[in-house]
Amino acid sequence: MPDPARPPRQRLSGLGVSPGRSAGPLVRMAGPPELPAARPAADPAAEIATIAKALEAVAADLRRRAADTADATAAEVLDALAMMAEDPMLREDAERHAREGRDAPHALDAAFAGHRETLAALGGYLAERAADLDDLRHRAVATALGLPMPGVPSPGHPYVLVAEDLSPADTAGLGPEVLALVTERGGPTSHTAILARSRGLPAVVACGGVLDVPDGTVVSVDGRTGDVTVGLTPEDAADVIEGDRRERARLAGGGGPGRTADGHPVKLLLNIGSAADLGPDAADAEGVGLFRTEFLYLDRRQPPSFDEQVAAYAEVFARTSLVVVRTLDAGTDKPLPFLGLPPEPNPALGVRGLRVDRVLPGVLDTQLDAIAAAARDTGATPWVMAPMVTTVAEATDFARRARARGLTQVGAMIEVPAAALQAEELLAELDFLSIGTNDLSQYTFAADRQHPGLADLLDPRQPALLKLIALCAEAGHALGKPVGVCGEAAGDPLLAPLLVGLGVTSLSMAPICVPAVRDELSRHTLEECRRLASL
Ligand code: PEP
Ligand code: MG
Repeated sequence: MPDPARPPRQRLSGLGVSPGRSAGPLVRMAGPPELPAARPAADPAAEIATIAKALEAVAADLRRRAADTADATAAEVLDALAMMAEDPMLREDAERHAREGRDAPHALDAAFAGHRETLAALGGYLAERAADLDDLRHRAVATALGLPMPGVPSPGHPYVLVAEDLSPADTAGLGPEVLALVTERGGPTSHTAILARSRGLPAVVACGGVLDVPDGTVVSVDGRTGDVTVGLTPEDAADVIEGDRRERARLAGGGGPGRTADGHPVKLLLNIGSAADLGPDAADAEGVGLFRTEFLYLDRRQPPSFDEQVAAYAEVFARTSLVVVRTLDAGTDKPLPFLGLPPEPNPALGVRGLRVDRVLPGVLDTQLDAIAAAARDTGATPWVMAPMVTTVAEATDFARRARARGLTQVGAMIEVPAAALQAEELLAELDFLSIGTNDLSQYTFAADRQHPGLADLLDPRQPALLKLIALCAEAGHALGKPVGVCGEAAGDPLLAPLLVGLGVTSLSMAPICVPAVRDELSRHTLEECRRLASL
């Protein structure tokens, strides 16, 4: 007999962006609530009681999350939000609106709107807190309407998180209960994908129809193929989890440095956002090939102090001998609120990455000072590189400033076609190049890296992209300097032999990708890799 509570099996498909398989009950992330038409509120006391309960529930939820997170900065932010929800003036305002005849959701909405206006009028840092108030407003209104609170759910058991899309801050704050991620939007190199990989969470993006699957339905997620199977039994789910555990154990058995079947060495490095990403899997990698320093500060509204930066960098330098630090890559899909950059009509083509130095010159200099101080404190020799380098003049200027601080290994990311076309001239000024295939695809194919409908254009196997990678690798060969790949393509086991065949000397990827890439490389000789690259 079919189980009426279990929907028939159905397969949805999206883009697999973070390898591994998992299964469990699905929980959807609720969006902001829609305010229904106002209803007559005959009993203001009942509305006032609903207001109090809603604000208390919001504050309690935030405080619980603050207590549950291991991230001290996230806990601080959550506690500060809880205090805003407990603000007696906000509550009094909402009560006043209720006494004037509004129902609880509308009274809350009106009170938040009033406070938002006041903050916005004050400008500067306080105006930025207006976005926090919106977040609290959505939570309080949803609760008063009897709807689930928006934001990452915390149902009290392991679950597969489904959302339309996730902001970088949402993804960074995911709790340990999340088994896998599925989003209806998002692209293969979006930051949701990157952060899922850094957390080792299987993830599928651009999965049409997944938001229609009811909460509680048991689903399996395959982060390599992009398949999402709906309507499993709990026993099926346990089998999926066990199969994944066995596959991870098999791959982890490999170990050792990266090399082809005939022993040609290819450094396998890690992409990280903080020392916390250097988990147990990190132990057998050969270093860090991309330390995305902006990930440390995604939800910060105040700039990190110099000492705080030194401590965060030193924590990573102390843990591994080779570290490639990328200076802050702010803007477009990775906004850093503390910089206060104004909105732009075309942010991906605007002031981002190294270009921020044009409008806020102190930020890069302070960061380079902090990296140099962390290097001195730990005795490390970090490699340092800038994102979004476009011209030789920019590379020369960056190298001068880094070397003036005693940083001896200076490089550039190749993310802009203009830089790839000038790879040899750039490399003459530098010590290494690191190819960011995520942005290099975006700018080569004029296709937004977050756009789910353009994923075919962003496929790194496209000949135009491979030609640009080859130009960089040839420059490295000519000058005897390393040229690696640190975009998401480097973690794709099927692409790794081809990249090695083109001549790249290292592959840097999320820790979760290393075992499969190492396994695949060990199956091909260098000659086979070169043949793949010449096809
Ligand atoms: C890239 O663009 O390929 C890259 C590694 O940088 P990010 O994904 O952080 O923009
Ligand atoms: Mg990039």
